[in-house]
Amino acid sequence: MAGLYVHIPFCAQACTYCDFHFTTQLRDRDAMVDALRREIRTALPHWSTERFTTLYFGGGTPSLMGPAALAAIAQEAFDGAEWSLEEWTVEANPEDLDPATLDALREAGVNRLSIGAQSFQRDVLTWMRRIHGADKAESAVRNAAAAGFDHLSLDLIYGVPVGGSDRWQRDLDTALSLPADHLSAYILTAEPQTLYGHQLQKGELREPPEDQVLREYGQLTQATADAGFEHYEVSSFARDGGRSRHNSAYWNGVPYLGIGPGAHSFRDQTRWWNARSNAQYLKASAAGDFASQQAQEVLNATDRFNEALMTGLRRTEGVDPKGLLNNSGHDLKNHPELDRLLTAGQVEWHGGRLRIPRHHWPIGDAITVELMA
Ligand code: SF4
Repeated sequence: MAGLYVHIPFCAQACTYCDFHFTTQLRDRDAMVDALRREIRTALPHWSTERFTTLYFGGGTPSLMGPAALAAIAQEAFDGAEWSLEEWTVEANPEDLDPATLDALREAGVNRLSIGAQSFQRDVLTWMRRIHGADKAESAVRNAAAAGFDHLSLDLIYGVPVGGSDRWQRDLDTALSLPADHLSAYILTAEPQTLYGHQLQKGELREPPEDQVLREYGQLTQATADAGFEHYEVSSFARDGGRSRHNSAYWNGVPYLGIGPGAHSFRDQTRWWNARSNAQYLKASAAGDFASQQAQEVLNATDRFNEALMTGLRRTEGVDPKGLLNNSGHDLKNHPELDRLLTAGQVEWHGGRLRIPRHHWPIGDAITVELMA
């Protein structure tokens, strides 16, 4: 079992807070499609022992490429490997999801859209420099549901330094009234090389206070629970059957192949990745030598233990100490900090697995660090 991720490194406009790999220069779009197809053809013969179950187009803004280009890239993948396709997700900007595009994506076999709403309010969207208007995400979700997608996910951002005091509750109310079965809600983080980072450095804005962020987290968990969503990972909420299979596979240590500039792959305790540079990637493609711009690291036993903790303790399932011991040789049950954290209620046993209770997830990273090897 394996997953395939394809990174589309183009966006119409740079959002205020974003430090993903993308460019707003679109002139290389066609060349990029050719290069992505070439990398798929080059890489897949090395994955002949795997059966792929999930395909995920992320970015960047995959919907910017149009359905025909996405279908051509996917076809290259379908032709080059064994598939039992359970989930094909495309990240989409609401602005790109007109009815004809929705029909074409559905026709191609896409069964899940991840729609970058972020907010439903004009002042927030304007500050974020999103290209879609306040009601566009709503209509995109309704049109996508009408077009017959099995699963729809919405991205939202909270902890933003603009908007009125009821901004987040109104965003939640709108999101939860829509026919989406998945919600990804992220706390806004200030990355230094972004416009938001610069605004903070120059003193033009201040980060929202911690009590605001915690209050908004509380609103989020309450509203999603009331709407019948399961909070199954720190940032992820799903209605019954709506969990992201692709991301869940990552978190379960399933191998994945990443295609495109900046994309990461993982298999056999080894992680490797392409350079975050479209120019380098296209040059490597032209030379037929993708390895020339790749780097890799082999995870040692301690890396494996720590990574499993970092992903596992973000989820309701938590981590299995026996699996960790087999995979890394580190015995979580004998960790010197464990008893103290159990007594403090910051971790708990549940069905033989160790987890962080949901109400402690806002400080989950700090708890996890205490348990690392
Ligand atoms: S559309 Fe997405 S990837 Fe592109 S700049 Fe905005 S947040 Fe980043």
